[in-house]
Amino acid sequence: MDTKKSGFTSKLVHSGSISDEKGSAVTPIYQTSTFSFRDADHGARCFSGEEKGYIYTRLGNPNTDELEVAVAELEEGFGGIACSSGMAAVNIVYLTILGQGDHMVGHNALYGPSRGIMEKLYPKYGVEYDFVDCTDIENIKNAIKPNTKLLYLETPANPTMGITDLKAACALAKEHNLIVCVDNTFCSPYLQRPIEFGADIVLHSMTKFINGHADIVGGMLVAKDEALYKDLKYVMTNVGFNMDPHQAWLVRRGLKTLSIRIDKGQENSIKVADFLEAHPKVDWVLYPGLKSHPQYELAKEQMDGPGAMISFGLKGGLDAGKKMMNNVQLALLAVSLGGIETLIQHPASMTHSKLTSEAREIAGISDGLVRLSVGIENVEDIIADLDHALTYA
Ligand SMILES: *Cc1c(COP(=O)(O)O)cnc(C)c1O
Repeated sequence: MDTKKSGFTSKLVHSGSISDEKGSAVTPIYQTSTFSFRDADHGARCFSGEEKGYIYTRLGNPNTDELEVAVAELEEGFGGIACSSGMAAVNIVYLTILGQGDHMVGHNALYGPSRGIMEKLYPKYGVEYDFVDCTDIENIKNAIKPNTKLLYLETPANPTMGITDLKAACALAKEHNLIVCVDNTFCSPYLQRPIEFGADIVLHSMTKFINGHADIVGGMLVAKDEALYKDLKYVMTNVGFNMDPHQAWLVRRGLKTLSIRIDKGQENSIKVADFLEAHPKVDWVLYPGLKSHPQYELAKEQMDGPGAMISFGLKGGLDAGKKMMNNVQLALLAVSLGGIETLIQHPASMTHSKLTSEAREIAGISDGLVRLSVGIENVEDIIADLDHALTYA
């Protein structure tokens, strides 16, 4: 079936699927490292690319192919590249686009390791960078240099929920011949499709919403055109960032329910955000679906919904955060996001506890900041859990 013109949810269910000769409803798992050729000529044609045939799983496998076709169709890009993790995807982009003497501009509040590895590892290879607040387009304009090659964005960003104007950022990047990569993990293609706004590469940690069941780690890149797809794919296969067939099969299964999972998580989030905003122990709430979000209008324009991620601040700071964490019962005290279970995290006492309060403040993480990934449980239960834990905060 040609799914290119199908609706989004039909694509979720059917895109890329491969049926075997027995008529299996679901693509079988091709748990194999290598593929045999019919004869020497067939092998030669597969290697030269004259015929599409499988050779070796690091180069391609039916299960990773199925997933790549599906996510690329959903993101409306040329092709997808599945890889072992979201961080593998980040590094494929850096390695492909940047070299000795090149410069990148990145958003200052990226997923921690996406910024961290650029600062720690890439200067060794002569790569330069500037991380600025990309929610203000003027800051991007001022950071672009003659040797800038890459604009690396994440919107909404983690955990500040800052939103970058994708259309304006991509238009500016085009004027300077930059490649734009957008980390779309928080939204998934169901809520935001960066290629529509002019992005060249879309990046996902499929560990989060795309798989949605907190049982695998994986990444995906979608390239807008064939040339970029080939360059990224070369790095993926030759550095060995490939995804395992069984992992790909699980993600493809999780992807089928993306829209109904996000609909439910989002419906819950809107109620949870209203509850938090009205709570006396809560100082502020950042959620793109609240009118109080500084970029509420922009969020409505470029996103098809506000999503299921909420940041909020406790009046009682560090101590209140710790106490709240120790008293949740339904929400899991865990990093990661985008699963069907509600996860809660307090960076100041957990992921960022080694930093000083001042260093956290600079990173946009106040002592009372709590991050919530709202699951698909009954919303009354989620709210009751938060309400109970907040009595200790
Ligand atoms: C989790 C995450 C990543 C990294 O993905 P892994 O699958 O953990 O390697 C990158 N970007 C964002 C926004 C994330 O949430």
